[in-house]
Amino acid sequence: MITVITFNPSIDRLYKLNKFEIGSVQRANFVNPTAGGKGLNVAKVLKKLGEDVNCIGFLGGFNGKYIKSKLDEIGIKNNFTQIKEESRICLNIIDSNNKSTEILESGPNITKEEIDEFENYLSKVLEETEILVASGSLAKGLPKDYYLRIGNLCRQKNIKFILDSSGESLKLGINSKPYLIKPNIEELENLSKIKIKNVDDIINISRSILLKGVENICVSMGKDGMVLVNKDFVYKVEIPNIKIVNTVGSGDSSIAGFSLGILKGYDLKDTLKLSNACGMSNAMHISTGDVNLEDIDKFIDEIKVYEYVSNV
Ligand code: ATP
Repeated sequence: MITVITFNPSIDRLYKLNKFEIGSVQRANFVNPTAGGKGLNVAKVLKKLGEDVNCIGFLGGFNGKYIKSKLDEIGIKNNFTQIKEESRICLNIIDSNNKSTEILESGPNITKEEIDEFENYLSKVLEETEILVASGSLAKGLPKDYYLRIGNLCRQKNIKFILDSSGESLKLGINSKPYLIKPNIEELENLSKIKIKNVDDIINISRSILLKGVENICVSMGKDGMVLVNKDFVYKVEIPNIKIVNTVGSGDSSIAGFSLGILKGYDLKDTLKLSNACGMSNAMHISTGDVNLEDIDKFIDEIKVYEYVSNV
């Protein structure tokens, strides 16, 4: 089974406006509240792909109840640890040119008792987990190296750990030797403190991260597809042009496709096709973590994955 951790879920409220202006009254033409947070986007896409997942992490207050009800509504198994403070609300405002402005709350504080309760449940759930996906930021109150601790537990139990985070929590989490990390270019630059100019830079930086024991590094590049680097080869993924609507959550959708490919035993090339097809399909929908199965099949036929021979 795939287990997905979301430490800081949210109610994502999407507003569509004709024009977004600061300092004036705005009227939304379209409002779409959904259960959000990077891990929940991963879970929603896995569910659409027909895979049952278990969502875990922390939920609290009225917003937490709302998020749970939304997950129940779409049949996503969820076993969040209840917390005293309120889960957060995040806003995504999209204008008629599909320009997006996001306002993200930092979220609730987690107490020591709540962490203990989560860990009790985690130790049980890991017994039936093949792949553990951890997506997004850590919640307030969790130690900075919490992904490192969780990754270490996965290693002990032979569970594939997929870590999609950024900043300090990613940097520390890498020391647990995850099966996969998926930074985008900006995240890879922040991690390495190196400005990326081309694919060879991506390969160089990724190889230095491989030395820390990470098995696969997928660097997502939006409309330019993806590069996967591991100890044996470098794969470059080329994707067709599509008409995009909202790319928020495309990285999460690509993680869903990747996890499913691995769970089903696909080879890495087919896994990368599924992963990118999911990211692309999400980019064509207004809601985050929303994909269309027919589009995914079509994209899989159009996406090209080839071994990249680098000059470095
Ligand atoms: P997020 O943090 O919003 O989830 P990300 O920055 O982690 O996204 P991206 O690199 O934007 O991830 O997207 C992941 C994948 O989705 C890409 O590798 C690609 O396959 C697809 N994708 C994203 N944006 C586009 C686009 N504009 N056109 C086509 N495909 C896209």
